[in-house]
Amino acid sequence: MKKIAIAGAGAMGGRIGSQIKEAGYDVKLIDTWEEHVNAINEKGLEIQTETETYTLQIPAILPHQVNETFDLVIILTKSMHAEEMLRTLYDKNAINEDTALLSMMNGLGHGDRLSAIVPKTQIFLAVTMWTAGLRGPGQLLLEGQGSIEFQRADGHADERTERINQIFNDAKLNATISDNVFKSIWSKATLNSVLNPLCTILDKTINEFSQYDKSRDIVEPLIAEIVAVAEAKGVSLNAETLLKKIEAAYPNEAQGLHYPSMHQDLYHGRYTEVDYLNGQIAKYGRELGIATPNNEMLTHLIHELEMKHVK
Ligand code: NAD
Repeated sequence: MKKIAIAGAGAMGGRIGSQIKEAGYDVKLIDTWEEHVNAINEKGLEIQTETETYTLQIPAILPHQVNETFDLVIILTKSMHAEEMLRTLYDKNAINEDTALLSMMNGLGHGDRLSAIVPKTQIFLAVTMWTAGLRGPGQLLLEGQGSIEFQRADGHADERTERINQIFNDAKLNATISDNVFKSIWSKATLNSVLNPLCTILDKTINEFSQYDKSRDIVEPLIAEIVAVAEAKGVSLNAETLLKKIEAAYPNEAQGLHYPSMHQDLYHGRYTEVDYLNGQIAKYGRELGIATPNNEMLTHLIHELEMKHVK
């Protein structure tokens, strides 16, 4: 795997792409945000960590400028932009039958959607605990530690699985090959489906949300719906474990001081990923005959807010 592309090189794509580049690999950033792409090409990617600020030279291009085929494409657009990005890459022959596509986006159902473009034997699904931010075009903010867990979307391993693991670990991204990535994806999606829309609708930090003494009465029915839908999709989740994970985020020393990413997206005038979290759970619920009124309602409320805030 010589040629690596990061399709969607915002905050998280910037982190993963820059770390792989720094490990000595041939990496290209692909993004639709022209100002960002120009800034990276003109001044380099400015990276601010806890201890230093430095500039990394890394090539960045717009999707229509792609003119080569990649061995590995890591997809880190927001969920709603992934299919359009991949179709452009496919039309530009950036993806062929040997290319591995790895989705590291939050949310549910990416493997099924991407399999409309390439077979599942070429798709890898990852879940990550790394975080990243952007301070402006071409300016990354990288704090904290994280990990990556991934698996081929059809559950089988191949030599590319080992190769991707090697690349991630060369890049100090702390990766492991999972034997059940779906469980991890659903667990993270549960946390995101609870805290993201609630803190966004209520305009509260995670800790502020937890201060209401009956917050469990809001959280538990949401978890119950997600566990029921996951079970019907063949993924076994434990409601008590998920509740504990959510409550572990409440203290200020954990994530309590933060507004979740959905809050940041909405109040910066951008569409949210709600259709890939609560909206996807409600969609699966309808298909499977499982009632998901709480997830359905949160999806509607976020869309109501998008009508007000998205420019
Ligand atoms: P991001 O918004 O930083 O980048 C995604 C895309 O948004 C980029 O392709 C860029 O073109 C565009 N973009 C960003 N800022 C813009 C601006 N000001 N103007 C115009 N376009 C802009 O998103 P992200 O946080 O990197 O998230 C990508 C995926 O990774 C999502 O699925 C997200 O849920 C997931 N994720 C993010 C983090 C994180 O800490 N950022 C952590 C884990 C998973």
